[in-house]
Amino acid sequence: MLRRTFLASTLAAPLVGTARKRPNILYIMADDHASHAISAYGSTINRTPHIDRLARDGSRLDNCFCTNSICTPSRAVILTGQYSHVTGVKTLNDPLDPARQNVAKLLRDGGYSTGMIGKWHLHKDPSGFDYWNILPGQGAYYDPVFIEMGEKKKHTGYCTDLIGDFSLDWLKRWDASKKRDNPFFLMCHHKAPHRPWQPGPKYASMLRDVKVDEPNSLYDDYADRAAAARLATMRVGEHMTKTDVKVDLPPNLKGNDLRRWAYQLYIKDYLRCIQSVDDNVGKLLNWLSSTGHEEDTVVIYTSDQGFFLGDHGWFDKRFMYEESLRMPFLIRYPREIKPSVNHDITLNLDFAETFLDYARLKVPADMQGRSFRQNLHGKAPADWRKSMYYRYWMHLADHGVAAHYGVRTERYKLIYYYGKALGSSGAINQDRPPEWELFDLLKDPREMRNVYADPSYAMVVSDMKKELSRLQQNYGDTPCE
Ligand code: CA
Repeated sequence: MLRRTFLASTLAAPLVGTARKRPNILYIMADDHASHAISAYGSTINRTPHIDRLARDGSRLDNCFCTNSICTPSRAVILTGQYSHVTGVKTLNDPLDPARQNVAKLLRDGGYSTGMIGKWHLHKDPSGFDYWNILPGQGAYYDPVFIEMGEKKKHTGYCTDLIGDFSLDWLKRWDASKKRDNPFFLMCHHKAPHRPWQPGPKYASMLRDVKVDEPNSLYDDYADRAAAARLATMRVGEHMTKTDVKVDLPPNLKGNDLRRWAYQLYIKDYLRCIQSVDDNVGKLLNWLSSTGHEEDTVVIYTSDQGFFLGDHGWFDKRFMYEESLRMPFLIRYPREIKPSVNHDITLNLDFAETFLDYARLKVPADMQGRSFRQNLHGKAPADWRKSMYYRYWMHLADHGVAAHYGVRTERYKLIYYYGKALGSSGAINQDRPPEWELFDLLKDPREMRNVYADPSYAMVVSDMKKELSRLQQNYGDTPCE
């Protein structure tokens, strides 16, 4: 296990002085926004013109993955640069200890003005921020309560617009104050498009008369997968409630007919929520350009994980499958980044280290990721990772997804459903037979066929198991035999 160390403030001082001002960092994160619902990533079902501006003028990361595809743990990874087994935030129920080191503290100690606005979802108050105004827990879409520096206030309006407005107000206050001499670090965290996908009034009737294209795997029957896929209870229609689809579920519809019907209701509300997020991204980008701060600001748009948009017949996330594993990540910094697409394997584990790199601050030794700043210029370090380690802990909780860990390389993915709760909070203490899956992503990018038992892949299985062990050892996680 890595030692939990807390940095002396001397380590957080700028490494070298240079003439150029250190950049501001505007980090915009949505909740459950899959990259295949962003037009810059090739979405065929919606347009996101403002988010696309970041791709047009900056870098689009095509292999950015989360290390644990669930809200609270991913947020802890992003703030600390550490895996869930190190942060202790393995499940939705685990708080992030405010005493722990995090990137906001390091940036603040290094001279940044720091702000956190929107969905926090780490159970205890934020630490490391000069200003914070957060939703309690998941928060509400309409007329939400916010907690501003410890004080609860109810607001009137649509949550996504309010988060955009509060972020803009904070930026204006920074711009008008003496703090302007210090660069800013603002985390603007939207609640949308998280379940139950409640759109704002502006887009309530968007797509009303349109049939949205269905994904190829909407009618997946899970025949060639581990039982874990078939047993998950997150099927569009079948495992939805009236709150999800906003009308009574028709009792006469079953199976694929129900899935077909519910998909349209689900995806339209999901996309309507995203349209408001896109508007509010535009609001902040317009402010940066109109005030002359565009050149000196690193802007990021991402989500805490991916999401199934009817893929495999599902909504939700959790599985190590591509749609939930992949995070959108767009980054613009006009002084340094040229329009480009990056294919290196990058992780939410790397975000904190990358921010510190831009801020010219030292990365503490107990962070487990690595800055990808140079990768964005096509200059990946020669020893950049060729594989990534993933672990989901909430055994059978919520949507009945079995706990699992695995490794993904450029071509293959090996997943092990170890069949136990292992004492994780919120997990269900009920054993299942362990199962393995191997996918050949080159031949089977949608992961429809588990080739673990196929003799022609025996060598691949052996190599991937070795790589899995190596990564677990490297990151200090404990295998489940
Ligand atoms: Ca999430």
